[in-house]
Amino acid sequence: NIQDTITLHNGVKIPQLGFGVFKVEEGSQTVESVKKALEVGYRSIDTAAIYKNEEGVGKAIKESGIAREELFITSKVWNSDQGYESTLQAYEESLKRLGLDYLDLYLIHWPVKGKYNETWKALEKLYKEGRVRSIGVSNFHVHHLEDLFANSEIKPVIDQVELHPRLAQPELREFCAKHEIKVEAWGPLGQGHLIDEPTLNHIAEKHGKTTAQVLIRWHLQHGIVVIPKSITPSRIEENAQVFDFELSLDEMNKIDALNRNERYGADPDNFNF
Ligand code: NAD
Repeated sequence: NIQDTITLHNGVKIPQLGFGVFKVEEGSQTVESVKKALEVGYRSIDTAAIYKNEEGVGKAIKESGIAREELFITSKVWNSDQGYESTLQAYEESLKRLGLDYLDLYLIHWPVKGKYNETWKALEKLYKEGRVRSIGVSNFHVHHLEDLFANSEIKPVIDQVELHPRLAQPELREFCAKHEIKVEAWGPLGQGHLIDEPTLNHIAEKHGKTTAQVLIRWHLQHGIVVIPKSITPSRIEENAQVFDFELSLDEMNKIDALNRNERYGADPDNFNF
């Protein structure tokens, strides 16, 4: 069901389906969307300092009345805060905005050249001191992970990357599996671009489900952690109704065949923010 978890290499459990809040406006839009998500059963929320909505996420958590230990809250250190001391400080600021005293997962948002290894040392310190339950990275290619391994003590539990049927990331998934790193998909709906894809539409129709539900199901069946976003209450609920059907092996293969290495977001080897 919606609260099913995947166990990370440090033993911490993350719900396989979570709720993302990129581009959700701070204030009532964030508070209402996150409260709706928690109401329909999501327990994992993915935010970031740069989304500028951590306060709203925190408010929704408080108003939901759900016990802190039942939730899995992720945030990320933004690029301009990378470096050792500035990351330690950024973590405190995120906690303060969220009104929390720990996060379940803290991620390096992007692999800023010449900085991410120092940033990682700060995450290792927070982890060793018990200030955060797990630490990971986002938008890391295989070569970034290899460089991180060569310069660190602790392996990330997760790499959160753009991943959907048109950008299936087979090499990264294989590498992460070998190193016990879970893959988490951002943009699982192709940020909306995949909703009209004919193969997906056809499979959805056969199951009496929507294309968004088929997309989320494809991620789940591949063992990928997935965090679709919506601000529309009916869609927040729709995206959670994915535990009452199963894609066949043939359908999974057909969806796998859509891969064409197409990104809707930036390439981690070439971003300028
Ligand atoms: P997404 O693939 O989840 O697509 C969201 C968009 O799809 C919505 O804005 C809406 O237009 C559409 N949509 C949602 N549900 C739908 C439905 N049921 N039917 C039809 N259309 C629907 O894209 P995303 O928000 O970019 O990614 C999900 C989450 O991943 C984000 O909210 C954020 O938490 C995270 N993220 C992380 C990074 C990173 O760099 N680490 C980057 C982007 C996003």
